[in-house]
Amino acid sequence: MAADLAVLGARVRTLDPARPFADAIACQDGVVVAIGAEDVRRASDATTTVLDGTAATLTPGFVDGHQHLFQGAEITRGVDLAGVADFGELRARLAAARAQVGPEAWLLGHGVEYELFQGAPFDHERLAGVDGPGPMLLWAFDLHSCFANAAALRAAGVDGPREFGDAARIVCTADGRPTGELREWSAMNVVIDVVPAPSSEERRAWHVEALRAQNAVGLTAQHLMDGSPATADLLAALEADGDLTQRVWLHQYVYAHTGDDELDAMVATASRTGRLWRADGAKFMLDGVIDTGTAWMEQPDAFGDNTEPLWPDPETYSRRVAQLSAGGLRVATHAIGDRAVRHVLDTYAALPGGSRGRHRIEHIETAPDGIVARFAPEAVTASMQPVAMQWVQPDRSDPWSARLTPEQCDHGWRVGDLAAGGALVVLGSDWPVAHFDPRLGLYAARLRRGPEGAAPIGTTRPLTAEQALAGYTRNAWRAVGAAGGVLRPGWPADFVLWADDPVDCSPDALLGLPVLLTVVDGKIVHRADR
Ligand SMILES: [Zn+2]
Repeated sequence: MAADLAVLGARVRTLDPARPFADAIACQDGVVVAIGAEDVRRASDATTTVLDGTAATLTPGFVDGHQHLFQGAEITRGVDLAGVADFGELRARLAAARAQVGPEAWLLGHGVEYELFQGAPFDHERLAGVDGPGPMLLWAFDLHSCFANAAALRAAGVDGPREFGDAARIVCTADGRPTGELREWSAMNVVIDVVPAPSSEERRAWHVEALRAQNAVGLTAQHLMDGSPATADLLAALEADGDLTQRVWLHQYVYAHTGDDELDAMVATASRTGRLWRADGAKFMLDGVIDTGTAWMEQPDAFGDNTEPLWPDPETYSRRVAQLSAGGLRVATHAIGDRAVRHVLDTYAALPGGSRGRHRIEHIETAPDGIVARFAPEAVTASMQPVAMQWVQPDRSDPWSARLTPEQCDHGWRVGDLAAGGALVVLGSDWPVAHFDPRLGLYAARLRRGPEGAAPIGTTRPLTAEQALAGYTRNAWRAVGAAGGVLRPGWPADFVLWADDPVDCSPDALLGLPVLLTVVDGKIVHRADR
């Protein structure tokens, strides 16, 4: 059998230490079968599709190490409110959106930045005259809060505070009237659950469109950070129809209120697998976000907040982790505050020895030296999103910095320190929180800022260009215990052809670097016209 696809003449960055560079690659049935022009010629015949990679650079396919594919595909259908800077502008944008969707329909939006409420907290009464008469639900950019109007609260039967079994809150005024702010998922879900669902055809079209758009910027796989046994059905259906154009490692989401029966169902689902997907991950959130005061820090912040975990009893979290780890699942825990990160490290360290190296921590937004030093020896993966530094200002005027000490700000997103210490660092976007484009992620990892940023965020080291590339490729596969992310014979044929070398080119050139070809499992899923 000859190779079905070959690329000749490219600079191939294999990420294989035994042979870091080559000039050609060939694959067959989804697997790399030859590296280097001579072997590729031998592996090919007249039936092989041969592509010319002259002057281009070929790397392993990019893996988004933390993403919300299905949520993102659905939430981003609403009006995009990213960058809206003041309440007047918010009112104008919502009035225009309301005119478009009609008076009675649900008005949905996303990308709301907390900066809008630094002067005064959200209250739907401030939107009177533009939000209704129909219901309205807006998502904060980080998916940790929603903002509902009176009609949406009515539709969901929300008329006061509620208990959720975790730290989520329906925010109310002193006299008990809900303001419309819903903090964290258990509270957000109360209103989300009454938004009319799109048809399954509509939903499928959105999912396929998102997968394709991501292929076009070089993504070949992702670690999907929210899901349930039903998400495994969704992946199986996409794959059966030939619509799954990325590998997906699904992490099933565990709430503080998730019961033993549901945990059993997750363990059963963990053994389900397709050609391109697995469901053997679990996702926990131990705290919220610094910007809303819901992260779990060692010390109260400047406003006296950020002192509580999302799970009222962190020991229950630790027990759930032990149960799922024993059931064979890889555990990913969202931990943003330093106290939360410490608790997760302690939880993982207490697991039986065989689970070493299997689990990971998401975000780690600010960490003292003592925490950073634990990752490598304890074999815990650091899954981080340097791209989030686009929302932080070097003058510390933003909602994240305003709550923290100068030292905590300096110790934000310590990707370079973690990598230098030998920790496995995986990079991702958290889309739809940030854009999924990995070129932005590489840029932020190398410069410690977004493209609009005036200066680097924090005082710690960035990643080198090579480390950043590894964070999106080889490290992401290692983190899920799979052989891949390195181009060598016998390994998965996922790769990207770039117009120039994403390692050697300047960060500015990186932002517009054309993606010529994306191959997943040996199949072309994106090809630019050249
Ligand atoms: Zn996330």
